[in-house]
Amino acid sequence: MHDTFYLNEQHFAVREMVSAFARDEVAPVASQHDADQSFPWANVKRMGELGLLGIPWSEDVGGAGFDTLSFIIAIEELARVCASHAITISAHTTLGTSPIVNFGTESQKARYVPLLASGRVLGGFGLTEPGAGSDAGGTRTTAVKKGDHYLINGSKRFITHGGVGEIFVITAVTEPGAGTKGISSFIMTKETSDPAAAAAHGFGHDNSLTPMRGFRSGKKEDKLGWRASDTCELIFEDVEVPVENLLGPEGKGFTNFMRTLDAGRIGIAALSIGLAQGALDQSVQYAATRKQFGKSIAEFQGIHFSLADIATGLEAGRHLVYHAAWLAQNGHPYTKEAAMAKLFCSELAMRATIAAVQVHGGYGYTRDYPVERMMRDAKIGEIGEGTSEIQRIVIARQIFKDLVRI
Ligand SMILES: Cc1cc2nc3c(=O)[nH]c(=O)nc-3n(C[C@H](O)[C@H](O)[C@H](O)COP(=O)(O)OP(=O)(O)OC[C@H]3O[C@@H](n4cnc5c(N)ncnc54)[C@H](O)[C@@H]3O)c2cc1C
Repeated sequence: MHDTFYLNEQHFAVREMVSAFARDEVAPVASQHDADQSFPWANVKRMGELGLLGIPWSEDVGGAGFDTLSFIIAIEELARVCASHAITISAHTTLGTSPIVNFGTESQKARYVPLLASGRVLGGFGLTEPGAGSDAGGTRTTAVKKGDHYLINGSKRFITHGGVGEIFVITAVTEPGAGTKGISSFIMTKETSDPAAAAAHGFGHDNSLTPMRGFRSGKKEDKLGWRASDTCELIFEDVEVPVENLLGPEGKGFTNFMRTLDAGRIGIAALSIGLAQGALDQSVQYAATRKQFGKSIAEFQGIHFSLADIATGLEAGRHLVYHAAWLAQNGHPYTKEAAMAKLFCSELAMRATIAAVQVHGGYGYTRDYPVERMMRDAKIGEIGEGTSEIQRIVIARQIFKDLVRI
């Protein structure tokens, strides 16, 4: 696509900087972190130093002061090489930090955003529960007001940074029986599950945060993909959360989290575009060197057709993602566009990575090439932050809403 339609000099500079970091520092270790299922502490520290953990937040709160398009370009370039690194900046920024930036009081913002935006500690977002996935309104975690604090009990499942992170925004029911209007959100703090790694790397823990008694991480998930991203259960047992940690008004937790997910979906769409582009890069490179029947497989029309379809999808997908990001950064509604971008790009990433394994033949099915990791990493794009079925429901709801307006 003709990138200059959406992108300016600053965006190109971000792309170049992140692309060099991804090539020189992420690519050499991505496969090992995937095999070990280990969190890439050293590279995440470096991402903080490069400003990648606070791209869209203003400099006075420790951010880089850039726009949403810069943020999604950074995600795209990281995912081209390693989706786990990409989801770390996406989840930390859109899910862990943006609710506090968007819905927090001045004192909540001053207290938590600088720690998150500078990459001093990692943040996360706790919505999903064992019985509340697609149906986020089915939240069972409770918050009972007792004077100057809420008593929180329950658990959350599949939380990105649930182990390594220290600052979380979570949902809990404050008014049972009131449905989604009875759900509120809270800022909660715990200690990282790996204090030794945090001490060794000089980030990931901050002494100024008070770990809340009874709040801890539980089981770490053993996953198909995104294996270098930390996904854990969160457990709340009689946690006393001060009233000043209520985020937004009581009863607004559900609607605020839905808004947060709109932003998160642009991040997943950008991650998926990066993955699809990475799969195409690998396929073109491999096809040019692999010889069968006395010639390069890049000369076979069957290979051309497969890769032409992916390249066409990438062009269309980039328009969807950049357009949704442009709407977001210019203050326009973008719920439908974010859902469309996530739906289209995550399904494209799945097709592109399957095609890449096919182009690599038997070699693509081994860990000697990155395409098998990319294929495993692509699948979660169709599940996390709302499954593809839920995206279709969101899009359809917006279409009918628009029709009713007419
Ligand atoms: C690696 C990873 C990271 C994650 N990170 C986070 C995080 O940081 N924070 C967080 O809160 N959550 C997180 N999640 C949770 C994720 O958002 C949920 O897994 C997802 O929303 C789906 O919920 P579920 O797993 O309960 O599936 P379910 O809701 O049980 O869905 C099962 C199937 O039923 C379908 N289905 C459900 N309802 C409908 C319907 N009305 N119409 C048609 N089909 C339907 C779904 O599309 C799906 O195919 C993460 C998950 C993973 C795996």
